Amino acid sequence: MQANNKPKLVTGLTATGDLHLGSYLGTMKQWHTYTQTHDCYFFIADMHAITTPQDPAQMQTRCLDMAALFLSSGVDLEHNVLFNQSQVPQHAELAWVLSCIASMGELHRMTQFKEKAATQKRNETLGLFAYPCLMAADILLYNPTHVPVGEDQKQHLELARNIAQRFNHNFKELFTIPEPIIPEVGARVMALGDPSKKMSKSDTTAANTIYLLDTPEQITKKIKRAVTDSEGTISFDERRPGISNLVGIYAALSHKSTDQVVQQFIGAGYAPFKTELAAMIIEIFKPIKERYTQIRHDETYLLQCLQKGAHKAQAQASKTLAEVYDAVGFVRS
Ligand code: ATP
Ligand code: MG
Repeated sequence: MQANNKPKLVTGLTATGDLHLGSYLGTMKQWHTYTQTHDCYFFIADMHAITTPQDPAQMQTRCLDMAALFLSSGVDLEHNVLFNQSQVPQHAELAWVLSCIASMGELHRMTQFKEKAATQKRNETLGLFAYPCLMAADILLYNPTHVPVGEDQKQHLELARNIAQRFNHNFKELFTIPEPIIPEVGARVMALGDPSKKMSKSDTTAANTIYLLDTPEQITKKIKRAVTDSEGTISFDERRPGISNLVGIYAALSHKSTDQVVQQFIGAGYAPFKTELAAMIIEIFKPIKERYTQIRHDETYLLQCLQKGAHKAQAQASKTLAEVYDAVGFVRS
């Protein structure tokens, strides 16, 4: 990446499953814009993925799927860095230092840990608990000014800011305190079949989630079956989570406010609204899918892209880590 005065931005996606409408609206939709305004570091979070059990063969395939999806969604390798987290060892190294700064109490307050630990029954791991320290390292290694996230990651980002401030205070003013970028609409897309929980890669009920690579038929079917209620009117109202979720999605995709969408569909029932919504999703995902299909089969190319990206990321990450090690008093030759 060329050295310039653009602010830096870091964003990652966990390699836990197929990317979906929530990932798209929470962060991917803006990638193209960010690449114009910021020096961007994009990464595939494979180390975060193993905080819940993963099949190793599937993980490898998925990381390449995700690399191809990054490249199909506006990430341009000439101006941005794209890498796989585990290929930049400084992430794990800084995470250790930060885990000696984060307190058990603050980690215990993280709602993602509580939710994911509940799904692991009694087998939750130390890694799942320490996840936010690794996430703080992912960010702070690159000293970004901005981190785009969906609403669900706001709490982790706040923790990363607190850890950075504590480090700066206890050791040395090294870290920029990053600001979150959270979209006004579409920051929390809910599961289609159960609008009380967020749409998620790790959700095993496929009907809850619209995947970026779903066929038009699958998208139409899932939207048609999305839970609404018996009132039959298009509105945005917290007492009606199903239809409100769909209105939020429509608004975010069409760059309108939820009020404008409600006005647009006054007098319409669910069926015409859902038909238009499905058509819009299909249209927006189409170019991403086309480009994905062109590049996914070339695994040598994808692996080379990740390797080059890892080298570029390491150049910045090793500099930050050396400063951190000096600041905490580690002897380096
Ligand atoms: P997992 O279930 O494994 O945690 P995920 O679906 O939550 O996966 P992540 O890779 O953890 O996806 O998140 C990637 C980015 O997408 C983050 O910025 C996150 O805030 C955002 N994001 C994830 N789910 C949603 C959603 N339902 N609505 C809006 N943004 C989302
Ligand atoms: Mg997540």
